[in-house]
Amino acid sequence: MKVLKSHQKPLRNQKVATWHLKPEPVCPECRSELSVIHKATGQIGCETCKKGYSCCAGFLDLRTRSDRYLSLNQERQKAKRLADYEAKESLEGLTRQYYRMTADVSPSRREMFVRHVLKSELRGQALLKLIPESGTVLEVGAGTGGFLAAAAKAGRMITGVDIASRWLVVARKRHSELNLEHQVPLYPACAEHLPWKDQTFDHTVADSLLEHLEYPQEAISEMIRVTKPGGTVLLWFPNRNWPGMDPHVGLRGLNFLNRSTAERYIKWRRGNIHWPEMRSPREWSRLISEQNNFIEIQYQAADLTGWPQSDCSMKGICTRLLGNVSKLPVASILMTHFGPIGQIRILKNAMGLKPFHFEPNGIV
Ligand SMILES: [Zn+2]
Repeated sequence: MKVLKSHQKPLRNQKVATWHLKPEPVCPECRSELSVIHKATGQIGCETCKKGYSCCAGFLDLRTRSDRYLSLNQERQKAKRLADYEAKESLEGLTRQYYRMTADVSPSRREMFVRHVLKSELRGQALLKLIPESGTVLEVGAGTGGFLAAAAKAGRMITGVDIASRWLVVARKRHSELNLEHQVPLYPACAEHLPWKDQTFDHTVADSLLEHLEYPQEAISEMIRVTKPGGTVLLWFPNRNWPGMDPHVGLRGLNFLNRSTAERYIKWRRGNIHWPEMRSPREWSRLISEQNNFIEIQYQAADLTGWPQSDCSMKGICTRLLGNVSKLPVASILMTHFGPIGQIRILKNAMGLKPFHFEPNGIV
């Protein structure tokens, strides 16, 4: 796939679609260019390793493996079934349809998850305020596209990937309701094998991704790899030390138990569902610093002060309040260690210019 280079001027009257200027994906296995390798079928593949990549629910499927919940085949089938409802349902209707197709989520928890999907753009707006104001952005684990929508509305050049194409179907619906679908390229891809060359994006973002990954270190190294020197990798994640409700399974006190006891308790209360492996901001920072050079790491409680003022719900008011309290000197230390959401900002230095540095007290 050829990209229009910035020095190549378009011919007069030639329309240049926005996507031509977006960073084009490469083979996730060997990072060579992708092109049409089968003229008869139009199949896209790698020019070097000859691996073919098919389409799934209208997306170019660049995954190298499946997620932990479904096989690749099952996942593609589910995304296709969901896409059949895409034209006739609203974002809310499509999200409800998704949960009707997902038997292992109880009706009461379905409602909670549906509300979370519908409100995720608010969280995206708060996260967007923490990214430098110019440059291209990649979101890894884009899910239902709340952050992508907030970024595209703000005029940012944004690309989203997620290992679950079923979620990208919901994201595409969200963007089409906002007339943003042509501005936000979406790719099913693995966080551990991002389909871009080194130093492609100015900034990279991941919200609530790390704890779901089997190989989080590889994913973080990939995010750093595709980010340009001088760029930022910003991570939000649920804090393992938070004493309140677990956001995944809706139970309290799990973090006071060891993992096997907590898993037995979850199985008793919620059935056989996977409990993501959470870490505190300090634990994630240490893991990242062991694996990567030429970066600076700053960790703290998630900065929620940018939560939109337009959200007058109780959750919105409490979230802004929490964000402001977290700025106070003693509270900031407590919130960093025990608050609900952790934040890590990785600053990627130009190779050889500045050595690795780990912020010991974690406060930016
Ligand atoms: Zn290849």
